[in-house]
Amino acid sequence: MLQFPEGFRWGAATAAHQVEGGNVASDWWAREHAPGTTVPEPSGDACDSYHRYPEDMRLLAEAGLDTYRFSVEWARVEPEPGLVSRAALDHYRRMVETARSLGVTPMVTLHHFTLPRWLADRGGWRAPEAVDAFARYTETVLPVVEDVDRVCTINEPNMVAVMAGADGGESLVAAGLPAPDPVVTQALVAAHRRSREVLSAAPLVRSGWTVATQDHQPEPGCEQVAHEYGYPRDALFLEAAADDDWVGVQAYTRTKVGPDGPLPVPDDVETTLTGWEYYPPALADGVRLAARWAPGVPVLVTENGIATADDGRRVDYLRDALRGLHEVMAEGVGVQGYLAWSLLDNYEWGSYAPTFGLVAVDRTTFARTPRPSLRWLGEVARANALPG
Ligand code: BGC
Repeated sequence: MLQFPEGFRWGAATAAHQVEGGNVASDWWAREHAPGTTVPEPSGDACDSYHRYPEDMRLLAEAGLDTYRFSVEWARVEPEPGLVSRAALDHYRRMVETARSLGVTPMVTLHHFTLPRWLADRGGWRAPEAVDAFARYTETVLPVVEDVDRVCTINEPNMVAVMAGADGGESLVAAGLPAPDPVVTQALVAAHRRSREVLSAAPLVRSGWTVATQDHQPEPGCEQVAHEYGYPRDALFLEAAADDDWVGVQAYTRTKVGPDGPLPVPDDVETTLTGWEYYPPALADGVRLAARWAPGVPVLVTENGIATADDGRRVDYLRDALRGLHEVMAEGVGVQGYLAWSLLDNYEWGSYAPTFGLVAVDRTTFARTPRPSLRWLGEVARANALPG
């Protein structure tokens, strides 16, 4: 058995827009319904988790997992500039309390890809007031998270900057990412710092952000190209976390880099439903990258998993990723927990086809069906050890 340290967290993650449903005041909803949209499928009712979250959390708890990462939706909390919905704040506070009543530790993300439509209309993260607006929003949400010990300010700021670089119209791809928008990158770093300052008023909160590590692997002789390509796409955001309380690593696949930049996924490798290479060692590599750019900062794996119709393959992926994680920890990197992406089959930014869930969700009835992978991860969590 490969034993994990005492107190290691085991859980799963979701994000508001991907599971709640009816997120009508957000920029993503607007994009989904814009005339001539390039988004293949709208989010609609998603998993109806806005109402069904107690069931989601219960499934996670019953399986043996102890941590649930979810996000607060800014567009619900502040649907118009300065207009705060008390009901939305109460809702998210109930989520924190429901998790605890089930013996689950909540971890809360303040921003997971979606913005209120009003801010997007003013330029989103490029808007001159974006950083102030995010600091104010953090203050507004403080009563919800004041005793939550892990708060993530911004999920995958690197992907936010990349999506802004692509002008927001493209779906997420793991290889050949567009160049991140430098203005947005700077705004995100500033917003993160301001938000952490606000959160520091709550002594129990430990704050950080979560980065999508891309596992850039240079072909022989292409180390410099890989560095120049990779730095603004992931390392910069890890480096910006060097003074944080923790840093989140979110890893899915690798990107090989040749003399002219990223290489396409070859035809003869196994791919997942997102078209990404099946590559479990991406997790260990992501954690090593975090340890290099944010040395000494505790790492949390805040997302890892695959989109597949074959749940057995999901278990293979998680097991091999966790073996790699155990190795990095044996090398001395402090990792405090592992959260799978995702608890539920959910809205994968444009489509419901890529199924990442440990729990299947019926698209018509919203019925939840736990998959064997949930049971498997729950057993690992209960043992705090991985079968060797
Ligand atoms: C995001 C999730 C997304 C997942 C799979 C990450 O980029 O944080 O929202 O669903 O990876 O693409």
